[in-house]
Amino acid sequence: MKLLEGKIALITGASRGIGRGIALKFAEQGANIAFTYLSSVEKAQELEKELEAYGIKAKGYCSDAADYKASEELVNAVIADFGTIDVLVNNAGITRDNLLMRMSEQQWDEVMNANLKSIFNVTKSVQKPMLKQRKGSIINMSSVVGIKGNAGQSNYAASKAGIIGFTKSIALELGSRNIRCNAIAPGFIETEMTAALDAKVVEGWRNGVPLKRGGTAEDVANAAVFLASDMSSYITGQVINVCGGMLT
Ligand code: NAP
Repeated sequence: MKLLEGKIALITGASRGIGRGIALKFAEQGANIAFTYLSSVEKAQELEKELEAYGIKAKGYCSDAADYKASEELVNAVIADFGTIDVLVNNAGITRDNLLMRMSEQQWDEVMNANLKSIFNVTKSVQKPMLKQRKGSIINMSSVVGIKGNAGQSNYAASKAGIIGFTKSIALELGSRNIRCNAIAPGFIETEMTAALDAKVVEGWRNGVPLKRGGTAEDVANAAVFLASDMSSYITGQVINVCGGMLT
């Protein structure tokens, strides 16, 4: 028996990186997958085909998670196509790194909207079908940076810390309806987001991790499978660090 057999999952930002890894792991475990992307049309089409090869239903939607109305329309479209939503993974996120001295208002706002407001937008719409069926699992992608801070990432760290407060509040609000809400805080996961970093910085980070390697999208996806599945049915309001011991 697969861990997510027959469940319907909506994953934001799955055309690349961690979101893509989660979509593939979920499909392997029998979930039907609705996923979003913003600009990577070809990658999204390729992913749709890869997911369907697992014998599940999969569909990609071009939708900006930072846009409230678009998120409402997205959730309505997913419900029309799939019937309901059992699992929501709020994964879409961006970085616009800069020291505070040089950070523009635009860099602050873009990160807040894509990383934090997006989670409000999509969760608010998804709670309706979850309340109706009296079950659901919401997984929000935070970061170890949201727990410990990082110089040059005050906008990103603030958005990721905000996600943790939101996660715990929603767990308290919706627990009585059997809707769980947890966060994952990845450490240094090697994706396109981190490929933009200086090679020396990356090597330094790898050496600083107790497990002596960067994480993979699959490492994060495995934690997401656990939180999406009934294996974690008594776990809500928690943050799981997937960081190779970085935050220890
Ligand atoms: P990534 O490789 O840059 O991929 C980001 C994904 O999000 C892409 O699919 C992108 O779509 C999508 N996206 C961006 N803005 C969006 C929006 N407004 N609406 C809908 N989709 C949007 O990033 P990643 O490294 O996989 O990171 C995924 C999540 O994990 C993020 O929330 C990130 O903050 C978090 N995280 C990552 C690390 C790490 O080390 N990589 C560590 C901690 C936390 P397009 O392809 O169409 O642009």
